[in-house]
Amino acid sequence: MVPERTVLVTGASRGIGLAITRKLCHEGAQVLGIARSARDADFPGTFVPCDLSDARQTADTLQTLTRDHHVDAVVNNAGIALPEPLGQIDLANLHTVLDLNVRAAVQTVQACVDGMRERGWGRIVNITSRAIFGTRDRSSYSAAKSALTGLTRTWALELADHPITVNAVAPGPVDTDLFHRTHPAGSAAEAAALHTIPMGRLGRPEEIAAAVCFLLSDDAGFITGQTLCVDGGGSIPGR
Ligand code: NAD
Repeated sequence: MVPERTVLVTGASRGIGLAITRKLCHEGAQVLGIARSARDADFPGTFVPCDLSDARQTADTLQTLTRDHHVDAVVNNAGIALPEPLGQIDLANLHTVLDLNVRAAVQTVQACVDGMRERGWGRIVNITSRAIFGTRDRSSYSAAKSALTGLTRTWALELADHPITVNAVAPGPVDTDLFHRTHPAGSAAEAAALHTIPMGRLGRPEEIAAAVCFLLSDDAGFITGQTLCVDGGGSIPGR
């Protein structure tokens, strides 16, 4: 990452978002980290409390942020998964999952993109998932992350000549609260997930952060519209 760039990271208080924030701050970037509440008293960046599931509160927060800061890059990391098999999908849950993963990302990027265009430099990284290739019991989640994949390519086309790059990072199972909520340590569900990963282990949040920080860097300036799978080989076809 180029020092002194300002990066807005959503879902920054724990897991992958916190690892991204730590690495960016270590590299000299200024991080504006949105989450509902800071778990860590010494959050490394500027903590911005906001419930992104509330569109009005999100609009107010983004208005203040973009008034007070030049946001050079956005990492849409906040996400939610509510697993349900087909036939038992609760439409309210479908709406919740699409709303946080997709609407909040669109709203965040829309608030920041004009500034990036004006300054002639920008980076957007969307955190999707291996679920874009299909995952049992994850209809809402795979639909939401597939929508983010489509937005990644569409925004890459619309922003290429500014030049602002837009890419996605698609993690496999990563050792975070979100993963362990549905795959408790030592459970059959965790063993089944690991069985699908050729490397036979969970990813570490820092390994996802490394890919994100590369895509945010000047070195990645000719990469746009791509999805980088960081999943221990879990997306290799026919595995
Ligand atoms: P996590 O649940 O550990 O952390 C999620 C972060 O998002 C937290 O900081 C939380 O405060 C924030 N967040 C959640 N809802 C919010 C809301 N309404 N408003 C503001 N902030 C909110 O999750 P994680 O595992 O670190 O996942 C981060 C991203 O990576 C998500 O988009 C997730 O879908 C994706 N992902 C995770 C895995 C995995 O195995 N952990 C795999 C693939 C993709």
